[in-house]
Amino acid sequence: MAAEAHSKSMTLSLIIKWGGQEFPLSALSEEDTVLDLKHSLKSLTGVLPERQKLLGLKYKGKPAENDVKLGVLKLKPNTKIMMMGTREESLEEMMAPPPENDDVINDFDIEEEVVEVENREENLAKISRRVKEYKVEILNPPREEKKLLVLDVDYTLFDHRSCAETGLELMRPYLHEFLTSAYEDYDIVIWSATSMKWIEAKMKVKPLGVIWGKYAEFYSKKNTIMFDDIGRNFLMNPQNGLKIRPFMKAHLNRDKDKELLKLSQYLKEIAKLEDLSDLNHKHWERYLSKKQGQQ
Ligand code: MG
Repeated sequence: MAAEAHSKSMTLSLIIKWGGQEFPLSALSEEDTVLDLKHSLKSLTGVLPERQKLLGLKYKGKPAENDVKLGVLKLKPNTKIMMMGTREESLEEMMAPPPENDDVINDFDIEEEVVEVENREENLAKISRRVKEYKVEILNPPREEKKLLVLDVDYTLFDHRSCAETGLELMRPYLHEFLTSAYEDYDIVIWSATSMKWIEAKMKVKPLGVIWGKYAEFYSKKNTIMFDDIGRNFLMNPQNGLKIRPFMKAHLNRDKDKELLKLSQYLKEIAKLEDLSDLNHKHWERYLSKKQGQQ
């Protein structure tokens, strides 16, 4: 009798939190190992066991190794465990080289030495690590149902090279109006925080996957648009990039530059769409005048 009771090990119930969702697990027993748990999580979330990091699953003060049996962890029923990790497909997507012969790319000022797509594996690991470590400074938390606008600073919002008494003189015309209007439909990320520079310096591009990995519940390639004056910064996400005319020689061009004014109209127009990923932002002006003609 005693032996029988012994062989019938206790079941465990856990709740795994990942990507803003909760996954209840009840089919595990105390005899199962951490690796068994990870395999169950793979079938639920698609994240490979080796990419999973389970926070709060400790054994003797250290993260529990794969061979540790769940029974010895003395977990209370329905303990919540946070999982960090990204699906292979999402990582692939972030890191995928742009399709060949795409006319979006041909327009880019690509310099040979920066296109090191053969380092994919290494970069993949770097991004995935960075997604976990990177702390985004949230000025305003993500809002439901909003799209995402990622902005470059130098030559996009400011002419940082010209001499001036104050930053105000170097600010691109209509910047305030532009930001106010855009914020109605888009959360705004300024890609210039020092910590983001790290990624830029290492990768020579601005992979949006870093943001999508961090805020998977809110942003994806379907609702993100990025403005930059350097086309190669979109190399990882050509479909999401809009190459803005650089704002230089502020003193000469302050009265002429209407780029942000027109772009705020474009953003307003495309904000009506469910999915931005079919647009070719290269033709944004044509799109805008067509839409405005229809009104
Ligand atoms: Mg720039």
